[in-house]
Parts: sequence; C-alpha cells; structure tokens
Amino acid sequence: MARVVILGAGIAGHTAALHLRRMLAREHEVVVVSPSAQWNWIPSNIWVGVGRMSADRVVFPLAPVYRRLGIDFHQALATTIFPEGTADDPRPQVEASSTRAQTRGTTERISYDYLINATGPKLNFAATPGLGPEANSLSVCTASHAAATSAVFADLIAAMKRGEHKTIVIGTGHGMCTCEGAAFEYTFNVEHELRAHGVRDMAELIYLSNEYDLGDFGVGGMSFTQMGYTMSSKTWTESLFRERGVTAILRAHVQQVEPGLLHYEQLDGSEHTLAFDFAMLLPPFRGADLKAYDRAGVDVTDRLFAPNGLTKVDADYTPKPYEQWSAADWPKTYRNPSYPNVFAPGIAFAPPHQISMPHTSPNGTVITPAPPRTGMPSGIMAKAVALTIKDLIEHGEHAHPHTASMATMGAACVASAGTGLTRGSAASMTMFPVVPDWKRYPRTGRDVRGTSGELGLAGHWIKAMLHYLFLYKAKARPLWFLIPE
Ligand SMILES: Cc1cc2nc3c(=O)[nH]c(=O)nc-3n(C[C@H](O)[C@H](O)[C@H](O)COP(=O)(O)OP(=O)(O)OC[C@H]3O[C@@H](n4cnc5c(N)ncnc54)[C@H](O)[C@@H]3O)c2cc1C
Repeated sequence: MARVVILGAGIAGHTAALHLRRMLAREHEVVVVSPSAQWNWIPSNIWVGVGRMSADRVVFPLAPVYRRLGIDFHQALATTIFPEGTADDPRPQVEASSTRAQTRGTTERISYDYLINATGPKLNFAATPGLGPEANSLSVCTASHAAATSAVFADLIAAMKRGEHKTIVIGTGHGMCTCEGAAFEYTFNVEHELRAHGVRDMAELIYLSNEYDLGDFGVGGMSFTQMGYTMSSKTWTESLFRERGVTAILRAHVQQVEPGLLHYEQLDGSEHTLAFDFAMLLPPFRGADLKAYDRAGVDVTDRLFAPNGLTKVDADYTPKPYEQWSAADWPKTYRNPSYPNVFAPGIAFAPPHQISMPHTSPNGTVITPAPPRTGMPSGIMAKAVALTIKDLIEHGEHAHPHTASMATMGAACVASAGTGLTRGSAASMTMFPVVPDWKRYPRTGRDVRGTSGELGLAGHWIKAMLHYLFLYKAKARPLWFLIPE
C-alpha cells in the first residue's frame, strides 16, 4: 500500500489527484491537503471582476467530489515537511493546520510515500506597501477578490454615468510580477464593459506593467506569422491598445500604493506618482513558505526550496548570463533532487531563470517579469507527475519518469471580453514552446506554426467553452479524463 499526499487543490494539485485516483488501485491512498473548501476556475475570475459572472459560477465545493471518488480531503494549510520523518517516526510526513471553522488551528501530521507540492503561488501583496484588497488596490486573483472588485467597478460605472471622469489603472503591482496575461485580459474586459455601459469617454484607462515592451507577457514576446507576414506580439498588442484608447506605462515597478495614489519607478531610474480612482494590480508571487526539517530536527528548508519559497526540482539552477540560458535548463520531471519522492508541478516549482530579458534600474531595482506557468502547462506537468508516481508505485523505483518540459510544450492565452455567444470578442494567442528553444527554432525561438495572435469572436467561444469544460472535468463528471489538460 502506498500513500500519495498532494498539497494544494488548484489546477495542478486537483489534476494530479483526479488522475492518481483514476489510475491507482484502491489499496493505495490519495490524500489532498488544501486550505480552501472550494475549487476555483481562476481564468473566469476575470469575468467575475467586471460583474459579468457571479462568483458562485467559478467555484464548487471539493469535499463531495473527493468523497465520491475516494480521495481523502483535509481542509488544512500545510506548514512543515519532514522528508526523512522524525526521531519518533521514520516515515516522511507533512504537518498541516486545519482551516475548517470547527477545528481551525489544530495541527496534524500525515505520513506519505510520495508528496506532490502543488501549492501554487502565495499572493505576495506584502512585497509592495499598500498593495492589495486589504489595503489600497484591488485584485482578481481569487473568486472573492474578484467579487469585491466587481462591486467597486459597478460603483465606478455608476459614478461615470452621473458624469464623473475616472482614472482606471490595471497591471502589475511590483517589478517582479508574473501573469501579465491576466492583467492584459482584465484591461480588455474593463474596456469592453465601459463601452457596453456607454461610459468609455468618461474613463482614462491605463495599463501599467513591468514588461519592457507591450506583448512581452513574461515570455520575451512572440513572433506571429500570418499570410506570409511576421508581426511581433509588441506591434499586435500596441495596435490593440491604440484601437481601444488604452495608455501603457511600461518598465514600471510599483513602490507603494496609497489611497488613490500610486508611486512607481521606471527602468531609467525615474520616480513618478499616478492618481487613480480604481486600481487592479496583480501581486508578485512567491512559494507557500513551507519549512522542512530532517530527522534530527535540523532545518533543511534550503534542500527543498529556493529562497523565494518555490520548490527546487530537476532544473539547472546554475547562475549564468542571460545569453547562456537555454531550453535545456528547464525541468522535465518536477522531482526534487535531494528528496526524489517529492514533486512540484505548476507554479510551485522554482523556474531556473527568467524567459524575458532581465533588467535592473540604476537604483538596483529589478524590473523584469517572472516566467508565467499558466493553467495548461500546470495541468500537463501535474498529469506527468501523476503518471510517474503511478509507475513508481506499480513498477518500483527504477520506473522511467514521465516528462513535461515547458521548453517542449505549448500554451494558449485567450483574453476574452463579454460572456454572451454573439456579443463577446477575444484576443487569442498561442505559443509553442512556452520557453523559447533557440537551437531548434533559430529564427524566433518558437515554431511559427504553433505561435499565433488572432482577434475575433471565435476565441471568445473557445474561452466560454473552456469555462464549462474545465468545471465539468474538475467535478470529475463521466469521461472527464477525455478532456485534455
Ligand atoms: C486572474 C488570473 C487569471 C488567469 N487566467 C488564466 C487563463 O486564462 N489561462 C491560463 O492558462 N492561466 C490563467 N491563469 C493562471 C492559472 O490560474 C495558474 O497557472 C494556475 O492556477 C496554476 O496552477 P497551480 O495549481 O500551480 O496553482 P493554483 O491553481 O493557484 O493552486 C494552488 C493551490 O494550493 C493551495 N495552497 C496554497 N498554500 C497551501 C499550503 N500551504 N498547503 C496546502 N495548500 C496550499 C491553494 O489554496 C490552491 O488550492 C490566471 C491567473 C490569474 C491570477
């Protein structure tokens, strides 16, 4: 009998749990430890954040799904890993603190044979003073953040209808943020809603980002080839923003957010302030801040985790100049080298380096997007990890690991606005691979056939379809496993 413990029931953790339960014989246990009672289809939070969708349509309770499938669910926050066990109990184990109302704060230890750390990002609002929904800016990172943001947005629209001019800022709240695609998509949606409510001319809409150029998206930008012409994602995004009257402030690190006023530094070292009426700014991400101790009680956190709390896996972390980084540095199995029964798919793994070119201001401020690990790659990595663990359990420690490198997989980003069948519109991008491979694709780093940017209603239909398909899949409805990650 083997026990697999999965920390985090987000896109990666939930995907791994469902596949493991489907593939493993019943004698093996699948245990999920996650602090929220609900699963959240995060991409649709964008629609919640503009009031197009209610928050209850992007979440569902996990416990009934796990009960039906035979997955043991602990609603708790993992805090400490003992990868070698303890002096009293040699089994590797994890300590978690209950987040259920009835038992909040009580701790338990759960032993494991295999551990999947899929704790995703810690939303690090604290990195920028005044950033975040508990301070002076808004967020759409969770369903509840998005619902709160939509209420503020509704008031803003009402004020514009009364004739008040407003300044809206959307973007990244720190120089080292990732997930620029989400900020871009929210901008696209807000602009669409302003027009739908007949108040577009009452708002100044500003996209403020740590990207060096528009269209960078933390992947160093893309080249799209259409009808024989090659266009950069920079030109494509600039043209989308120009058509919609969106002003861009780029190469920016937000230093502080006060009520209605943000302070930022740009890459040239200049410092500025910007007054706003509504600011949705993404936080930088870090890991879940788990600690680790060996059997003797010695702190071994640095064997499992990088200083930013993300898990060390089979990547090449050797510091190198940007020009020497390569696709081969990226992890394939998401296995920790010190403790090979610990895996970390999704945002939880520590990337070996940025994909976008790193930049530092004369004041020493790093203003560079961190690499995105979006939903599709997170699900693919999680499935590969689940397959590896299944093979290790069934065939022993020499079983061949399954691989899923971001340098050999593609990703799609659909920024879709409106939720109806006929009234929506979308900017859709695909890229292959996510991490450019300059040896394989010397011209642009990516396969031109798998890298594209399109505008139109079809992308909106795809995004709407993905909403329903992924909720269906996450609820493990009949034949869910036929829906790809
Ligand atoms: C607003 C927004 C829009 C997005 N839109 C898109 C999109 O359109 N397309 C796309 O592909 N991607 C999109 N993304 C990115 C996508 O949501 C992430 O790539 C994906 O959720 C990463 O999966 P994950 O499992 O690594 O992390 P998550 O899905 O965040 O899951 C992490 C899980 O770990 C849990 N957890 C945290 N700490 C602990 C702990 N200590 N112990 C136990 N559990 C813990 C969390 O509660 C959560 O359940 C978007 C992201 C945002 C913020």
